[in-house]
Amino acid sequence: MRWDNLKLEAEAESRLPGYREAVIRTFDAPEALDTRFYEVYAKSAINKVPAASRMPFRYTINPYRGCTHSCKFCFARPTHVYLGWNAGRDFEREIVVKVNVPEVLRAELRKPSWKREHIAMGTNTDPYQWCESKYRLMPGIWEAMRDFRNPCSVLTKSPLLLRDLELMKEIAAVTDIHANLSIPTLDEKPWRASEPHTPHPRKRIEAVAELNRAGIPTGVLIAPLMPGINDSPKQVEAILQACADAGATSIGGIALHLRGEVRQVFMDWLRSYRPDLVERYEELYARGAYVSREESDRIQRLLRSAKRDPETRLGVRSMRGVCEPTEKPGSSGARRVVQESLF
Ligand code: SF4
Repeated sequence: MRWDNLKLEAEAESRLPGYREAVIRTFDAPEALDTRFYEVYAKSAINKVPAASRMPFRYTINPYRGCTHSCKFCFARPTHVYLGWNAGRDFEREIVVKVNVPEVLRAELRKPSWKREHIAMGTNTDPYQWCESKYRLMPGIWEAMRDFRNPCSVLTKSPLLLRDLELMKEIAAVTDIHANLSIPTLDEKPWRASEPHTPHPRKRIEAVAELNRAGIPTGVLIAPLMPGINDSPKQVEAILQACADAGATSIGGIALHLRGEVRQVFMDWLRSYRPDLVERYEELYARGAYVSREESDRIQRLLRSAKRDPETRLGVRSMRGVCEPTEKPGSSGARRVVQESLF
C-alpha cells in the first residue's frame, strides 16, 4: 500500500492480458475520482520497438498504460483496446501501473547481452501523469539509468519531472540524456478543452527553461497541430517565441492524425467543442488517418517560417527524428509508423 487514503478494491488474478496479477485500487482524491489503478507486476521493463518502425529510438519504457491527462487527440488510446478496454473513458480512468518496473529494469540492464542502447520514456503514455507523484516509479528508473550509465530521454506534458532533476543531472554527468516537453498550444481555451487534465502549458515552458539552465538539453514537441484549433500563425509564433525564450534545444511539429479508435473519440469531442469545424475535418481525413501532403506541407512551412523570423530569435534545430506523417492513397504507410506512439 503506497498511498494514504488508498482503498483496495479487488484483486483479480490474470485480469489483464500479459500480466501475472492485478491489484485494483481507487484513491479518494478529487483528481482520482472514478479512476482505478491496476497495480501489476510486469515481466519486462524495456520494450523493443518493431524493426519496421522508423521511430528515432529502438527501446522504450512505459511504466503506465492509460493516461489520466485525457488528451482528446491522444495517439495511444487504441493501445487500451488490447487490454479489453475502450479507447475513450477507459483509457483515461483504468490505469495500469507496473509497480516493479525499476527492479525489472535493473535486472535487464545488468544482462551482458544488453549493449547500453538509448532508451526513450514517454513514447506511449505520459510517465509523469499525476499518479506518478504517488507511485514514484520514475526515480527508480532514473537511478538505474545513472548506475548503468545508460543513454536515455523522456517526453512528457508535466513539470513534475523537475522533481527528479537532481537524478537527471547525475545521469548527464555520466551519459547522454535529453528531455522534451509536449506543448501543443499556449492558448487557454483549446488547451483546457483538448488536454483537460494536463498541467498548464506555461508551466511546461518554465520546465523547459529550468531543465536547460540545469544542463539537461530539452526541446519542445508542438503536437498535434490541429487545423483551426491551434495552428494559426499567431498561435504557432507565440509558442515558438516562448520556446526560444526558454532555450529549447529542438522543436518538432506534427499534424493531427486520427488512427483507429482515436477518430471516434476526437470527432465526438469536436462535435461538442467546435461543431463548425466538423465538416472541415471530415474532408481533411476523408481518405484516411493522416492529412494530405498539402496540409502537411502547410504545417511544416508554418514552423519553418516562424523559425526564420528574426523577431523570434530562434536558434533551434528540428526535433530529432520527428517527421510529419502523411498518407497517400495506396502507399505502404511506411512513414506513418514514425508517429506510432509519439504524443
Ligand atoms: S497525449 Fe500524452 S499526455 Fe495526453 S493522454 Fe495521451 S499519453 Fe497522456
